[in-house]
Amino acid sequence: MNQDLTISLANAAEGGCLCGAVRFEIAAGPVPESGYCHCRTCQRQSGAPVVAFFAVAAARFRYLKGSPAGFRASDRATREFCSACGTYLVFREDDSAATISVNTATLDDPTLIPPLYHIYHESRIGWFDAADTLPRHRRGRE
Ligand SMILES: [Zn+2]
Ligand SMILES: [Zn+2]
Repeated sequence: MNQDLTISLANAAEGGCLCGAVRFEIAAGPVPESGYCHCRTCQRQSGAPVVAFFAVAAARFRYLKGSPAGFRASDRATREFCSACGTYLVFREDDSAATISVNTATLDDPTLIPPLYHIYHESRIGWFDAADTLPRHRRGRE
């Protein structure tokens, strides 16, 4: 995968939680961010060693069904998840002009948006590594 390749959704993409109570849609268009996050907060919230996420303009994301619960792990963003089954769906910054980050594996077709880099690699769990040559950033991408 060429990391300079710009990912774009040709059509709207849908996704949702494990139980189906919460469904969402991403409008077609560019996907400016797509990566893996190894931070401890994502690990704890997902219960998994790493979270694949992508970000789009917040206006291009909408819930189609249900309404998620929220948890604030910091004073700048809310992590949204299904209150029935617990699936972690979205990282939403308070600044509405910011992008919204969606957990890639919650898409109906997660292959649409491959990760292009790793962030917070400094907190990678030692027994986990991905067999790729994508850039590994100690913390954020700057
Ligand atoms: Zn659910
Ligand atoms: Zn994270």
